[in-house]
Amino acid sequence: LGSITMLTGAASIGKLSAEEIKKFNPRPFDTPIRLGSNENPYGPSDAVRKAMRDNFDMGCRYPWAYNAPLREMIAQKEGVTPDHIVLVAGSTEGLKITGITFAGRGDEIISGLPTFLSMMEYAKIWGADINWVPLDKNLDYDLEEIEKRITAKTKLVFLCNPNNPTGKLLPAKKVLDFCETVSEKTMVFSDEAYYDYIEDPDYPSMVDLVKKGKNVIVSRTLSKVYGLAGIRLGYMVAKPEIAAKLNERVVANTNMMAIVAGKAALEDDDFYQFSLNKNLEARKMIEATLDQLQLEYLPSQANFVFFHAKQDVRKLAEVMLSKGVIIGRPFPPLDDWCRISTGTIEEVAFFNQALLETLG
Ligand code: PMP
Repeated sequence: LGSITMLTGAASIGKLSAEEIKKFNPRPFDTPIRLGSNENPYGPSDAVRKAMRDNFDMGCRYPWAYNAPLREMIAQKEGVTPDHIVLVAGSTEGLKITGITFAGRGDEIISGLPTFLSMMEYAKIWGADINWVPLDKNLDYDLEEIEKRITAKTKLVFLCNPNNPTGKLLPAKKVLDFCETVSEKTMVFSDEAYYDYIEDPDYPSMVDLVKKGKNVIVSRTLSKVYGLAGIRLGYMVAKPEIAAKLNERVVANTNMMAIVAGKAALEDDDFYQFSLNKNLEARKMIEATLDQLQLEYLPSQANFVFFHAKQDVRKLAEVMLSKGVIIGRPFPPLDDWCRISTGTIEEVAFFNQALLETLG
C-alpha cells in the first residue's frame, strides 16, 4: 500500500484540482474523494458542531464529571444500567483492551478472515495466538467451524456482524443461537460497528444476551452513522463483572469534546435518519453501476459495498486515485475484491463515472 499512501498528497490528486474536488463535497476538502474508510460523509451534524463550540466557550474543562451522564444516556438507549457500559476512545480502543484483558500469552482468539483486525493484531503483540477461520464459500462467517475449533485455550471469539469488509449480515436466529451456545464455553465479542445500518427493524440486538447474563461483549461506535469518526468515541455493553474489568483499563480515556459531541449526536434523531436514508440512496447508486458493469457484489447491510473487481485492488486503487477517488484497501486473501464506502450522492456519482471509465 506504500504507493497508495504516496499518492494521497494534495498535490497528486491527478486530473482533478482541489477546487474541482470541493465542488463534489459539501465540506471544505483539499484531498481526493474518500470512499475508503466507511465514514459518514455528512457528519458531524449541526447540533454536534454547536455542542462542541459551546464546550469551548465554557472553558473546555476536564471531562470526568461529564462521563457519567453520557454513560447513563447510552445505558438508557441500550436498556441496561450504567454499570454495563464501557466508554472508549473509538471502538478500536475497546477491541484492543478486550484482547489484552481476556487473551494473554498462550491464550487463543478465534476469528473469521477477512474481518476487522484490530483486536487480533494487538493481542498478537501481547502474546495471544490467533486461530483464523476463513469465511465460507458464500463469504459468510463460518460459525460451525468456529464452534468446532473452541478448546480450553480459547478465551475470545471475535465476530463482526455485519462483517467488514463484506458488509454481510448473518441471519438473526443463527447468530443468536451461536452466541448463546458459544458464550457458555468462552467470551464472544460482537463487533457491531455497522449495527445502525441493518435494515431489518426486527433484527435482535446482541445486548439481549448481555441482559441474560451471557459472556457476550457488544461493541458499538459513533464513528459511522453519527459521523464522529475523528472524535474517537464508542462503547461496549457487557454484564457488570465484565464491564468493571474493562473499565479498569480505560480510566479517563474519553475527552470532553467527545462527550459533548456524543451526547448531541445521540439526541439528534433527524440527522441519524437523514444519514441512513442518504447511505441507502448512495449504496443503491453504487450497486446500479456495478450491475451495469456486470460485476458481482455482496448484499450489504452497511455503509459500503464489497464487489468483485476482477483485478488486484492495489492497481485499481492507483487508477481511481489518479481520478481523485480513494477506494478501500485490499483485504487479503480477497485481493481482487474492492470495498467502497457510500459517500455523498455527488461523490458517489463521481465515483460511478470514474469506475465506468476505468472498468467499462
Ligand atoms: N469495527 C469495525 C468492524 C470497523 O469497521 C471499524 C472502523 N472501520 C471499527 C471497529 C473501528 O471504529 P472506531 O474505532 O472508529 O470506532
